[in-house]
Amino acid sequence: MSNEKTAGKPAGNLISPAENTWCPGCGNFSIEHMMKSALAELAESKGIPLEKFVIVGGIGCHGKLTDYLNVNSFYAIHGRAIPLATGIKLANPDLHVICFVGDGDTYAEGLDHLVFAAKRNADITVIVHDNRVYGLTTGQYTPTSPYGFKGRSTPDGITERPINPLELMLVSGATFVSRGYTKKLKPLKQTFKDAILHEGFSFVEVLQICATYFNLTDCYNDQVYDLEGIDTTDFDQALAKAREWDYTSLARIPLGTFYDRKMPVFGEKFRHLEKRTRSRDEAVRAVLEEYR
Ligand code: SF4
Repeated sequence: MSNEKTAGKPAGNLISPAENTWCPGCGNFSIEHMMKSALAELAESKGIPLEKFVIVGGIGCHGKLTDYLNVNSFYAIHGRAIPLATGIKLANPDLHVICFVGDGDTYAEGLDHLVFAAKRNADITVIVHDNRVYGLTTGQYTPTSPYGFKGRSTPDGITERPINPLELMLVSGATFVSRGYTKKLKPLKQTFKDAILHEGFSFVEVLQICATYFNLTDCYNDQVYDLEGIDTTDFDQALAKAREWDYTSLARIPLGTFYDRKMPVFGEKFRHLEKRTRSRDEAVRAVLEEYR
């Protein structure tokens, strides 16, 4: 079944006509276009209707993606995209919920939500646009800015060390952990497809170029390499690989899927309870009655 028939929107129309205000050269474009292709290919190859995809965006330059991708979307408040995505999935388990967040948005304001979604194995996909700077507010440091980073709010350089989000997600319970780079397009698209199809909490950290406030293209081009031949069910190996680079050093940066395990998903028990009590329609009617 083609995606035209399933959703009434050909793949070419997955980019909306909204005016794009990202800076030229921004890595957000790669994420937008690889996600567009990933959705189109999943619609085509798996027969998933496009209306079954829902995207949720946080606050930051990345969040504009909710306007630019022509699928059902919701623009959340700062740091709160993940609980919203979790709620959407619980309310309608047939949907594929993809959450786009920034490094400031989710590693600072929304960190507790990120950790708890991983701990619960919420069945959502989280894509982090990690440009390691607050781009929308013109260049302040974030939790993944390197040690010594000089930004608008820290002209003498920061004296804190960055967090390692992959390490954090692994120890928090994420069942799919991957890292991509906005200059490596094909692997990025494949990672998006794998993450969306994963049953459980899938976390994709994308090293995203901010062309205006923190352009790390040369560093990343020198440092990245593809993970090959690893056992993605081996937690200790995944952790060791995640620790190879600490977000400041000039060590090599592994790209690819570090960890991929199947575990019980948050919400399964809720659906079980629902069957034993009343239908969703009855439950919704009961809530509405309270407000009459
Ligand atoms: S400020 Fe940086 S992240 Fe924001 S649109 Fe411009 S290049 Fe992209």
